[in-house]
Amino acid sequence: MRWFGKNWGAPVCRDTEHAEMPTSKCAGCELPFDEEDRGVLLPFVGGPEDPPELAYHHGCLLWSVGVSNIHILKHGLPLCAFQPGPPVHWPDGHQWVREHEWPKATCPGCRKANAVDREKSRA
Ligand SMILES: [Zn+2]
Ligand SMILES: [Zn+2]
Repeated sequence: MRWFGKNWGAPVCRDTEHAEMPTSKCAGCELPFDEEDRGVLLPFVGGPEDPPELAYHHGCLLWSVGVSNIHILKHGLPLCAFQPGPPVHWPDGHQWVREHEWPKATCPGCRKANAVDREKSRA
């Protein structure tokens, strides 16, 4: 395992090698990385066509291991629509941030939906 981006003070940043910002997309949310991002590269055992490492945003990795379930809330509903109602009806452990706080979200579905929204508003 290696890490990239700014040091966020975790043991991994001290104990493992720092890597260049990956040019591949995140294996969690499928979005490209930008210079403000931080994350990790995990060894990947796939076929001969597969990359030797998979890159994840820090938040996407937390999501994938079930540590951090943070959605983006828009008009009171999660962007990924994993639940049809507002947060009071969500299962335990799920949290949310407002749209402008989206970099803190760890839900890949919400991050992707948010990227599409921002792309649209730019056009
Ligand atoms: Zn990601
Ligand atoms: Zn979500």
